[in-house]
Amino acid sequence: MKEPDITEYRVCQHYLPAIINGDYSGMEEDDIEKLDKFLEDFDLQEGHFDCDSDEEASFERCEICKLMGDVITLRWVQMK
Ligand SMILES: [Zn+2]
Repeated sequence: MKEPDITEYRVCQHYLPAIINGDYSGMEEDDIEKLDKFLEDFDLQEGHFDCDSDEEASFERCEICKLMGDVITLRWVQMK
């Protein structure tokens, strides 16, 4: 089996239901725009997003909204 290529991003927890499950409910228009912009760079035919549900969030700058927030690691897993 080929090894996957994994890229990590630090992103706000509140984006995860949308990213992982496609669940955009309860999201602000503004947040959806920022998320869609971030997701533009990924081809879902080539990989998928993953995260560790046990990870404790830490207060850091988010790579999607560029603001400080409760951030966890999002992994982009791509098969080479
Ligand atoms: Zn954020």
